[in-house]
Amino acid sequence: MASDGHRQNAAVERRRPSWDEYFLKLAMLASERATCPRMHCGCVLVRDRFVLSTGYNGSLPGTPHCTTHGCIVVNNHCVRTNHAEINAICQAAQHGISLTGATAYVTNMPCTACAKALVAAGVRRVVIFSDFHETLAETFFAESGVALDRLPMPDRDIHYHLERYSSARACEPSATP
Ligand SMILES: [Zn+2]
Ligand SMILES: [Zn+2]
Repeated sequence: MASDGHRQNAAVERRRPSWDEYFLKLAMLASERATCPRMHCGCVLVRDRFVLSTGYNGSLPGTPHCTTHGCIVVNNHCVRTNHAEINAICQAAQHGISLTGATAYVTNMPCTACAKALVAAGVRRVVIFSDFHETLAETFFAESGVALDRLPMPDRDIHYHLERYSSARACEPSATP
């Protein structure tokens, strides 16, 4: 049993994500809330390993979703939703949170408008794992001295090891009536 435990611990430690992977996975999680079927995108704004705000592409609060009322397509882009980056910036604005010096973790390369908004909001580093065509993001980031890091797509699974959380065992399907 002891050796099994050691092997198990080693496996758990190997899957422990780096900070960049961790925040990218949070951005992937945020993207699950997206309401436009044409694209799902998530954004997490972080400073000093502290999550300042999150966003996903979605309609204005209280207004119809693409999923129920259809997209509003202009020039081959859906304009019904705000993009994830804009929604994350707006959430920070609503709560009076400064984004100066923040890092933006985004599932996709920002579009031109979002790239400019991130720069103007004070973001100094952008981390992505997926590219997006037709964007001048790289140009504006370079001109503004904003670092851009492309990382591999993080592991899409969340490794929640129930054996490490004894109180969670009762929630396993086999333990429910
Ligand atoms: Zn849409
Ligand atoms: Zn955008």
